Amino acid sequence: MFEALPLPPPTVWRVALPLPLPRLFDYLPPPGDAGSDPVGARVQVPFGRRELVGVVAETGAPEHDTDPAALKAAIARLDPDPLLDGELLASLRWLARYTHAPLGEVLATALPGPLRHGEPLPDTHAWAWRLSEAGATAREGLRAGKPRRLADLLAEHGALDEDRLDDLLEDWRSAARALAKREQAERIAIPAVHHAPAPRPGPALNDEQQAAVDALLAARGFTGFLLDGVTGSGKTEVYLHAIADCLARGKQALILVPEIGLTPQTLARFRARLGVPVHALHSGLSDGERARTWAAFARGEARVAVGTRSAVFLPLREPGLIVIDEEHDGSFKQLDGIRYHARDFALVRAKALDVPVLLGSATPSLESLRNAQAGRYGHLHLKRRAGQAQPPRVRVLDVRKRPLQAGLSPELIERIHAELRAGGQVLVFKNRRGYAPVLLCHDCGWTAHCPRCSTPLKGTPMTVHAGGRRLQCHHCGTRRPAPDACPDCGGLALQSQGAGTERIEESLAARFPEFPVLRIDRGSTQKRDALENLLKEFGTTPGVLVGTQMLAKGHDLPNLTLVAVVGIDEGLFSADFRAREKLAQLLIQVAGRAGRADKLGEVILQTHHPEHELLHTLLSGGYPAFAEVELAQREAAGFPPFAHMALIRAEAQQVETANAFLALARREFEAVAAQRAGAARTTLEVNGPVPAPMPRRAGYLRAQLILSAPQRPELHAALDAALPAIYAAPEARKVRWSLDVDPADL
Ligand code: ADP
Ligand code: ZN
Ligand code: ZN
Repeated sequence: MFEALPLPPPTVWRVALPLPLPRLFDYLPPPGDAGSDPVGARVQVPFGRRELVGVVAETGAPEHDTDPAALKAAIARLDPDPLLDGELLASLRWLARYTHAPLGEVLATALPGPLRHGEPLPDTHAWAWRLSEAGATAREGLRAGKPRRLADLLAEHGALDEDRLDDLLEDWRSAARALAKREQAERIAIPAVHHAPAPRPGPALNDEQQAAVDALLAARGFTGFLLDGVTGSGKTEVYLHAIADCLARGKQALILVPEIGLTPQTLARFRARLGVPVHALHSGLSDGERARTWAAFARGEARVAVGTRSAVFLPLREPGLIVIDEEHDGSFKQLDGIRYHARDFALVRAKALDVPVLLGSATPSLESLRNAQAGRYGHLHLKRRAGQAQPPRVRVLDVRKRPLQAGLSPELIERIHAELRAGGQVLVFKNRRGYAPVLLCHDCGWTAHCPRCSTPLKGTPMTVHAGGRRLQCHHCGTRRPAPDACPDCGGLALQSQGAGTERIEESLAARFPEFPVLRIDRGSTQKRDALENLLKEFGTTPGVLVGTQMLAKGHDLPNLTLVAVVGIDEGLFSADFRAREKLAQLLIQVAGRAGRADKLGEVILQTHHPEHELLHTLLSGGYPAFAEVELAQREAAGFPPFAHMALIRAEAQQVETANAFLALARREFEAVAAQRAGAARTTLEVNGPVPAPMPRRAGYLRAQLILSAPQRPELHAALDAALPAIYAAPEARKVRWSLDVDPADL
């Protein structure tokens, strides 16, 4: 009698797939795979009738309830060695847990397009040619001609990279092919040759900068620093010294900058000063370029990256330092898909990599200030401007009851004129692009609203563009020609109300025909180099720049002596709890553009609310005074950084559908809270469903649920416990829904 021996359970690969499902998917290894540990390697797998590329997250025995016979085999393993391993994979797992997002979607967000789609890690090598042994022997017998000339060059130099060959011998490729066919020459991969300029020394550091650099260089292992330095105080010089030290120790440095801060000027400064190749990573690159940079870091070949948000996902083999410039900037938070915050993730990575992390800003986020005050970061201060520059004078201009022309008061226009006559440059800052925010019928009061974004209770005005000929919705992109007559009353008294950058530009150009007037906003600078070229053309001679926050940072404008800020009043009374912080940061940053070099700068804030407490605090005590007041208010009201929030948003064609889903989610959270309440009083608050700030967008009705808890673990425990049922609910399939942990706005 034979006793049937139980078969050992097969090993399965648990694969993270880019699907909105919070789980891994089991596959058998591809036939014949006897490779090394597959965790972190990409695999191609069958999924329904499709084929997907995923990453092996775990290996192990099948789940108890899985029938091994029903498991499908993976089609192919795409990486012999794991593409993601060690710290990066561990940190991305953390990010998936923190955002409560599927690991497969997090990995897909972290990888450049070609890698996400299963392409091999691209070549980062350069190519060179050399003579084979046969070629060396045959060379002297070759007939005169291109192949002979190439053979002679290769004999002389040993091996030549293709860039050099381009310089040395015209049409060398056909000659190389001829030699290669006779096996007299061969093409070989060599490490990429990078031509970096010799490093140039910077200015001698002042005492404050030196103290900051000393503190940074003394740090070993993970330490957080907040470099809190007024605009123009020389923060970048401090970064450069810390990076140079990191390079001298043979380590890599990663520098994150805001979208608008990564200018050719910034890159040129880093390149000139560091004397090593500096890799830029931003949205203007092709997918192929991103993948090559990723590969150069994965192989440990690259030393320095300066990049925007997604650069935080670069693999770092020999990490030494992470810098986040303008750490308060909103562009570090991704607002769709995986809603991660690059600053916060950089902190997690720095800790895992055990390297110092430096956050710099003239207007630190309240989160970072709070961390510094609580002793979690070293707090470094630069209180004075570097070099000769003096802080600008700031003045509030009361425009109540004044006749406005394109939103500008007569006093302001006169002041601009005086500055231009004196040879200065002027920046007029208005945080609204387009010609005018609203089109209004003077006869009946009709206004143009976006048909796809407005609700019966709340209209979303369409912005007037193209000098009044076109209407455009800045929320959904809908465009239409402006009507000639009022659609309601047929009257012809349609007027553009308020002023956007386009209208201010038009008005100032008419007023000052003898000076150039240049508009800088997302409309005028669609192409990547457009801004650079516009500013080059503008030069340093007298003229006016009219712009949105694109101008708040990045470009040095040494001859800018007057900054006029108009149209800030809307921001003073916003419902969003972060609006005041954003406005204060914007005002300080824009004001910081005035008087960068040896010239004294002036800032004029034109407002209908000269007595507003926020303006008062900022003017009398600067950003530190504002931050103190604001932190106290946030603490009293139980808002971040004194509470931790998550936002669940749902969109559907009917508001009832969105609300039904959110009501279900609410019940799940309440059930979870009731269970936990047995042990201790629950501190989780659930608010909603309530309409989203934009209750209708692009034809969808939107509502939200806000979760809040004084301690992070409570919030995350509630999400962990409630989300599986929320994902699985039938109501979830009828809506588009998203979860945002630490939402940027509510
Ligand atoms: P921030 O990053 O704080 O805005 P930067 O590092 O860009 O400041 O410095 C502002 C300007 O001051 C730059 O033109 C820079 O070259 C100059 N600068 C910085 N540090 C010094 C210094 N120690 N001595 C002289 N000039 C300096
Ligand atoms: Zn009308
Ligand atoms: Zn719209």
